[in-house]
Amino acid sequence: MYDYDLLVVGSANADLVIGVDRRPAAGETVLGTDLAVHPGGKGANQAVAAARLGARTALLAKVGDDDHGRLLLDSQRAAGVDTVGVLVDDAPTGVALITVDPSGDNSIVVSPGANGRLAPADVRAATSLFHASRVVSVMLEIPLETVAEVVRSLAPGSRLVLNPSPPRALPREVLDACDPLIVNEHEAKVLLGPSRVGDRPEDWAGILLAKGPRSVVVTLGADGALVASKDGVARVPSVAVDAVDTTGAGDAFTAALAYRLGAGASLAEAAAYAARVGAAAVTKAGAQESYPTAEEVEAL
Ligand code: ADP
Repeated sequence: MYDYDLLVVGSANADLVIGVDRRPAAGETVLGTDLAVHPGGKGANQAVAAARLGARTALLAKVGDDDHGRLLLDSQRAAGVDTVGVLVDDAPTGVALITVDPSGDNSIVVSPGANGRLAPADVRAATSLFHASRVVSVMLEIPLETVAEVVRSLAPGSRLVLNPSPPRALPREVLDACDPLIVNEHEAKVLLGPSRVGDRPEDWAGILLAKGPRSVVVTLGADGALVASKDGVARVPSVAVDAVDTTGAGDAFTAALAYRLGAGASLAEAAAYAARVGAAAVTKAGAQESYPTAEEVEAL
């Protein structure tokens, strides 16, 4: 018996957002809107997304002993995430400084802060969480050696889902453990590098699969997704919605997919459900604020 459907190991950031008429050039100062502060970071987003869907979810992450850290802890608890694994460090909570112009284009500076202090020893100290979790989801907004320790800490029979964001080369040990590796178009292109062949996502998925993962999912925004495994490549249709804000859609997709895999769904079934969750998430503004409940996914 598992206590958790999903353990998310990853980042927690405060998103500090200012709207601007245009983004400043070097040396320039522009005036913007009032500051808005939102809980974010890919790990925190995924945990909230899964919990809102009804998954028993735990988060292993690190925040600072500051207002941003408390904001993140509050939003996790409000969504029903078990925060026993959220550690408090003397580094400041991670921050994303985001400016958004009227066309919706943004510029982002991330200060990892406490996320950069989430260490392999913290993963080893959380063995009981790993043994209690059916599926573990991890991303790259934490140190790569910590991600590698997550791979080594997986309990027998549990499953790893990895979204390599921000994308960078991964050691074979990590790639081999992914089931699936989940990439959007940008991440796929970075990981494929010069070996990228053609413009067909089906081809990227095949090449990525050959690099070691047991399965691969490529998310394609409004075009849905595709799944690839030894059984072949299959398209996952998107759900037509009026998109308002795509922020955090990928995190909702990943969390939903991980949750459904743990519940016994096939990769294609889990991805189809995740596509509905991603579609629901783009119909509302924000990241965590936009994540649907299971009933809202059903109603879509
Ligand atoms: P990321 O946020 O990582 O770039 P995507 O934009 O590919 O990821 O979005 C993740 C998933 O969310 C997609 O695979 C799709 O299922 C869903 N999604 C995203 N944008 C839309 C959209 N405009 N309409 C319907 N579904 C969407």
